[in-house]
Amino acid sequence: HKWVYSFGNGKAEGRAEMRNLLGGKGANLAEMSSLGLPVPPGFTVTTEVCTYYYANKESYPPELKDEVETALAGVEKIVGANFGDANHPLLVSVRSGARASMPGMMDTVLNLGLNDRTVLGLAKSSGDDRFAWDSYRRFIQMYSNVVLDVGHHYFEEALELKKEDLGVHMDTELKADDWKSVVAEYKKIVEKRTGKPFPQEPREQLWGAIGAVFGSWMNQRAITYRRLHSIPESWGTAVNVQAMVFGNMGDDCATGVAFTRDPSTGTNLFYGEYLVNAQGEDVVAGIRTPQHLTVEGKKAQKSEAPAMEEVMPEVFKQLVKVRETLEKHYHDMQDIEFTVQRSKLYMLQTRNGKRTAKAALKIAVDMVHEGLIDKKEAVARIVPSSLDQLLHPTLDPKAPRKVIAKGLPASPGAASGKVVFTAEEAEKQARAGEKVILVRRETSPEDIGGMHAAEGILTSTGGMTSHAAVVARGMGKPCVAGAGDVRIDSNAGTLTVRGTTVRTGEQITLDGGTGEIMLGVVPTVQPELSGDFAELMVWADEVRKLGIRTNAETPADAAQARKFGAEGIGLCRTEHMFFEGDRIVAVRQMILADDEKSRRAALAKIQPMQRQDFVELFEIMAGLPVTIRLLDPPLHEFLPKTAEDMEEVAKDLGVEVKEIEARAHKLHEFNPMLGHRGVRLGISFPEIYEMQARAIFEAVAEVQKKHGKTVIPEIMIPLVATKKELDLMKAVVDQVAAEVSHASGEKLEYMVGTMIELPRAALRAGEIAETAEFFSFGTNDLTQTTFGLSRDDSASFLEKYQQRGIFDHDPFASLDTEGVGELIEIAAERGRKTRTGLKLGICGEHGGDPASVFFCHKAGLDYVSCSPYRVPIARLAAAQAAL
Ligand code: PEP
Ligand code: MG
Repeated sequence: HKWVYSFGNGKAEGRAEMRNLLGGKGANLAEMSSLGLPVPPGFTVTTEVCTYYYANKESYPPELKDEVETALAGVEKIVGANFGDANHPLLVSVRSGARASMPGMMDTVLNLGLNDRTVLGLAKSSGDDRFAWDSYRRFIQMYSNVVLDVGHHYFEEALELKKEDLGVHMDTELKADDWKSVVAEYKKIVEKRTGKPFPQEPREQLWGAIGAVFGSWMNQRAITYRRLHSIPESWGTAVNVQAMVFGNMGDDCATGVAFTRDPSTGTNLFYGEYLVNAQGEDVVAGIRTPQHLTVEGKKAQKSEAPAMEEVMPEVFKQLVKVRETLEKHYHDMQDIEFTVQRSKLYMLQTRNGKRTAKAALKIAVDMVHEGLIDKKEAVARIVPSSLDQLLHPTLDPKAPRKVIAKGLPASPGAASGKVVFTAEEAEKQARAGEKVILVRRETSPEDIGGMHAAEGILTSTGGMTSHAAVVARGMGKPCVAGAGDVRIDSNAGTLTVRGTTVRTGEQITLDGGTGEIMLGVVPTVQPELSGDFAELMVWADEVRKLGIRTNAETPADAAQARKFGAEGIGLCRTEHMFFEGDRIVAVRQMILADDEKSRRAALAKIQPMQRQDFVELFEIMAGLPVTIRLLDPPLHEFLPKTAEDMEEVAKDLGVEVKEIEARAHKLHEFNPMLGHRGVRLGISFPEIYEMQARAIFEAVAEVQKKHGKTVIPEIMIPLVATKKELDLMKAVVDQVAAEVSHASGEKLEYMVGTMIELPRAALRAGEIAETAEFFSFGTNDLTQTTFGLSRDDSASFLEKYQQRGIFDHDPFASLDTEGVGELIEIAAERGRKTRTGLKLGICGEHGGDPASVFFCHKAGLDYVSCSPYRVPIARLAAAQAAL
C-alpha cells in the first residue's frame, strides 16, 4: 500500500484524477508538475492516512514514517538542500488539501524546519539576516498556534510591546536584531504556555504539523463547513509537504493569485493581483492593497499602482504562458496561486475557479466557441440551481445589509418594501404606487390578490410547499417562509425579532434565495438574460429526454413559462382561479347552498368566468398540452376566518353571520389535508366537477372554432385512492363532453387521468390505469402521505431532523428518492403494464428541483412540471440527467 505520493522536477507519482486520494491541491500539484510547470517539489500524504488516523486512535500506518523519509530525501535532492542542515537548510510548508476545497477551514504551517541553528543557515544562504529572523518568528507563531494551540494574541501583544519600545509603527521598520529579540520573546511565550521549549528538532516539527493538519479535519469550523456544504466526514484530508519558496526576499520577489478569466463576468481576460516582496498570507490578510497583474486590469480599476506586466515583464510573460497551458490542459477557468522568488516563477496551486452564475455561463459558451470543450460538456458544467441567480433580481453584493432573521429560502429573488400585514392593505398600497412586503403568519388562497400586489412575501410558519412558497414560486416573487423567530402581531401592526420591532409602513428587504430578512432597503441588481443563456439552453434541449411543462393557472404565469421554454401546462390548479376578481362571492354561495339546486345556481355563475380562463390559457399555450386539475382543496378554505371577514361576507351574500359561522363550523375538520378534499368533493358534489368539465369543453370548442386547430385538454382528478372513484368521475366528464360536443358541433378530443398522491393509488396503479389515460405524480401530497408528515406543519422540526442527520434534505423540496421514489417506480411500472405508453409526469414542487429531475429521468417519466421561473432550471437538469 502506498501512503505518500511525490512530485517535482517535471515528474509526479499522482495525477489530477486522483483527487479523492490526494485531495484537490495535491492532485493538481502533481498534475502541474507532470506538465512541466515550475512547481516546488514536495509530496502528498494521502486522505487514506487521515481515514486510518481516525480509525486507529489517531495513529499512523506503520509504513508511513519510511515513506515520508524517502519522499523528503527526494525533495532534498531536487532542491539541493537538506532538512535541518545548519548551512543550507531545506524549509517546507505543510498544508491541508481535501477533496472538495474548504477555504480557510483547516490549518497551514509555513517555514517549517527553522530552529536556532538553521535560521543562521537561512541567513547565510539567502544573504539576508532580517529575512531569516522574520521568517523564524513567523514560523514560531504559526506553528505554536496551529500545533501547540497557543493563541495568536500572545504573540501579537509581544510584538506590539516591542514596537512601542522601539518607537516604530510598521513591521517593516524592524531590523534583523529586532526580529532576533522578538524570536527570543516568542520562545519564552511558548515555554510559558506549553511548559516546554519550542521544538527545535525539524522532524518533530514536521510530524507535529502533519498531525495538526489531520486534527484540523475535526475542528469545529471544518465540521460546520462540511455540514453546510454536504461534504462527508469520511472523505478526510490529505497533507501536502512542499519545499518553501519565498516571495518576501526582496523587490525581485512577489506573490499573487489569479483567475485565468474574470470570475465575476466570465470575460476572457487574465485577472489577478500580486504584491511585491510579500508572503501569500499578506495578500489574503489585506494588510497591503494588492496591485493588478495586467495593465488592462489596472486601467479598468482606475488604479495608479504599477501592474506586474510593467514591473516584472519577463516573469509576467511566463505567467501568461502558464495561464494558456493550464486552460488548454484543464479546459476550464483556473484559480492559481504563484510566488516569484528572485525573479523565478513558482506555481503553488491551481484549481477550477469559483465563479458567478453569469461567468459560468459565459465561460462555458465561450469555451465551446474556442474549441476547448464540446456542447455537452458546457451543458454539464452549469449548476442548474445557479440559473436562479440569472432569472431574478438579486441583492447588490456591494450593498451593506442588516440581517435581523432568517427563514426558509422559499422563492428566490430579492425585494424591498413597506411592511403590510393584510392582503387588502397590500393591494391598496400597491394601487397607490407603494412597494410592499406582505407579512403573514401563513398565507391562504384568499391572500392571492395581496401576494400579487406585493414585491415579496414573508411568513413565520409553513415550509417549502406551504401555500405562500408554492404560490410565490409560481409568481416568481421572492418569498421567505417559516421564519420562526419572527413574531407577527397584525393587530398591533408589528413584527418583532429578538428585540427589533418593525412597524407597518417601515421598510424591509427579503432575499428569497438565502432566506435572509433585512432592515431597510438593500439595493438590487436586475438580471439580464444574455445570448449565452439562450445558446446554452438550446444545447440543453438537444440532449434532454424529459419534457418540461409548467404549473400555471394565470395567463401571466403561462406566458412567462412559455418565454422560459415550457412545453405545456402540467398542472393548472383550478381553485386558484376561484379567487380571481369577485368570483369568490359565487364560490361562497355555492358552499353555503343547502341543496343541489341552489348549488347549481351558484355554479352557473362561476362557469362562464372559468370558461373564459380556459379560453385564455388554451390560446396562450397554442396547441401545447394543458393539464387541468379539477377542484382539490377542502371547501372551508374558501370561507372567511375572522369575525370581521365573516360579517363582510354575510353582507356581500345577504345572509346572517350566524349562517356563515354555522357552515364554517360544520366544515371544520381536524385534519383537513386528509379530509373532504380532492376527488372526495367530486364524489359528494358531482355538479362541481360537472361545471368545471363544461367550462373546459366549451372553451375547447370556442378556441377550436376560432383558430381551426384541435385542442386536447388533459383533465386530471386529484387525490384518487381507488379505481372506482376515478370511474365515477370519468363518467361525469365523458357525459359533459358528449353534451358539449353535441351542442357545439365540435369534435372533442381529451384525456382523463389522475394524480398519484396517495400510497394506495401508487400501489393499485395497475388497475387505476385501466381507467386513467395518464398519471401525474403529486409529490407534495405523496410525500406528505408517505411520511405521514404534514407539509404545512413540519417546517418547525424538519431543521432538527436535518441537523441530526435523519434527513439530508427537506423531502418537500427534494424528492425522497428512496421511499416516495419507490412508490413512483412501482406506480410507473404497474401503470404501464396495464396501459403501454401510459403518459407519466410529475407536478409536485419537486418538478423544479434538479436532483428530483434526475430521478424522474431515471424513473422513465415523460415530463416534469414546475413553476415558470424554474422551467430553465428543469430544462438544464433534464439535459444533465440525459448526458
Ligand atoms: C401535489 O400534491 O404534489 C400537487 C401538485 O398538488 P397540490 O400541491 O395542489 O396539493
Ligand atoms: Mg396535491
